[in-house]
Amino acid sequence: MTSNIQIDGNPAFARIPPWVKAKLRPNAIEKIQQVHDWVETECIPAERIYKKQLEGNRWRTPAIIHELRKKAKAQGLFNLFLPNHFEESPGLTNLEYSCCAEIMGRVYWAAQTMNCHAPETGNIELLAKYCTPEQKKRWLHPLMNGDMSSAYSMTEPDVASSDATQIGIEMEITDKEVIINGRKLYGNCQYNEEMQLFILMGCSDPNNPNAWNRHTTLVVPAKTAGLKQVRNLTIMGYDWAPEGHGEYVYENVRVPIENIILGPGRAFEIAQGRLGPGRIHHCMRLIGQAERAYELALVRCVEPRKKPRGKFIGEFDSNIERIADMRMTIDAMRQVVLNAADTMDLQGNKAGRYAIAQSKIMVPNALLKVIDEAMQIYGGQGLTQHTPLPELWTYARFVRVADGPDSAHRHQVGRDQMKTAREFRARAEQYTERYKELCKKWGLEPEEFWGIV
Ligand SMILES: Cc1cc2nc3c(=O)[nH]c(=O)nc-3n(C[C@H](O)[C@H](O)[C@H](O)COP(=O)(O)OP(=O)(O)OC[C@H]3O[C@@H](n4cnc5c(N)ncnc54)[C@H](O)[C@@H]3O)c2cc1C
Repeated sequence: MTSNIQIDGNPAFARIPPWVKAKLRPNAIEKIQQVHDWVETECIPAERIYKKQLEGNRWRTPAIIHELRKKAKAQGLFNLFLPNHFEESPGLTNLEYSCCAEIMGRVYWAAQTMNCHAPETGNIELLAKYCTPEQKKRWLHPLMNGDMSSAYSMTEPDVASSDATQIGIEMEITDKEVIINGRKLYGNCQYNEEMQLFILMGCSDPNNPNAWNRHTTLVVPAKTAGLKQVRNLTIMGYDWAPEGHGEYVYENVRVPIENIILGPGRAFEIAQGRLGPGRIHHCMRLIGQAERAYELALVRCVEPRKKPRGKFIGEFDSNIERIADMRMTIDAMRQVVLNAADTMDLQGNKAGRYAIAQSKIMVPNALLKVIDEAMQIYGGQGLTQHTPLPELWTYARFVRVADGPDSAHRHQVGRDQMKTAREFRARAEQYTERYKELCKKWGLEPEEFWGIV
């Protein structure tokens, strides 16, 4: 198959670096163009309609989303995130999907219209990887079809959940069922009727001497007896309806043992398998969010009604420099994300661990500053509901914590880097030895110094 789409001068491809363009296959070029057209015509102009429809009932998915999901599915825009090594995949590589995801990020809910939103993407990947054919029929296929939505439930109030070995919700496994007791935080709200299952991680074998074999992952249908949502947790003051973030109590919740994924005690195998592209989808979309903020800043720079001291806002040197910094930061962060996606394609998720961590640490932090600067250029209005900037900023801020705090990733990167210190020290000692040899050759006395050079 070849593509007739002209890339040069085409806004859908304007920000894609040449090394990535060179790797795009015809099908990917078609999809990127489609996603671009979709977001430009169906999503950005509909942002205020979405908000209006939510006003009536905060926990019902707005009608416009249902309509757009139907249309997007019919156009072959569903589940683009699932990488091409899965039999259920629509065929894009992680790198190709990154280009689509960036465009989706321009509107908070655009990914949802294409079934490419969190936590669905991570959950679908998990189910596709580890479920039996029977389990896939019950949970994976309806999720991929967009017939329901799901939550991922790991974090707990009473332990440091960034260290998953501490997860403590009790799972008693009998020969027929699993009985669950404890509390969980986050995971989408079951106030929304479409949220129909939790992928839950809990502790089934607390006395196992191997801390990595104590936990089990299973599916809990929403509305199971004994499972109660206590409240919705606001995130930085927003309720994030209609998905939200729930707080849950489990009191003797019983699910059949057929709901266990992979097997008892194998939650960490699953968690390892989850350390893939799903972890940087937020970062991919964040690039698009930052582009949107940047464009809004540019729009404001030439706003004829706003001319302090008789000049356009974009005529002040400080703002010209701001725009330059914003531009360069976004382009640099895009390279970080695309490199992570490409590394996973070429060498697998495990080899991509560093690049994934690099994205998760650097991208939200850098782009928070970009969105912040866009607000500053916009003035007071940039902090109100009349622009998407406050929501864009808040989303970037929560990415620093959701799916593991960046401090934990930084700690891991630093520890891995420390393992290379001895090798560098050995090389430094060799430089010193060689220096002494060279001094001898050139009849020089080696300079006195402390330690090695
Ligand atoms: C918007 C949002 C959405 C979320 N969605 C979900 C979800 O869908 N499902 C779910 O299960 N959870 C979800 N979470 C929870 C999130 O994954 C946890 O908050 C996160 O993993 C940290 O766990 P904790 O809150 O228990 O903090 P702790 O583990 O107590 O960590 C607190 C702080 O300690 C520091 N710290 C921790 N480890 C290290 C380290 N190794 N080195 C240095 N410092 C460290 C960091 O500063 C960290 O922020 C969400 C959170 C937010 C804010």
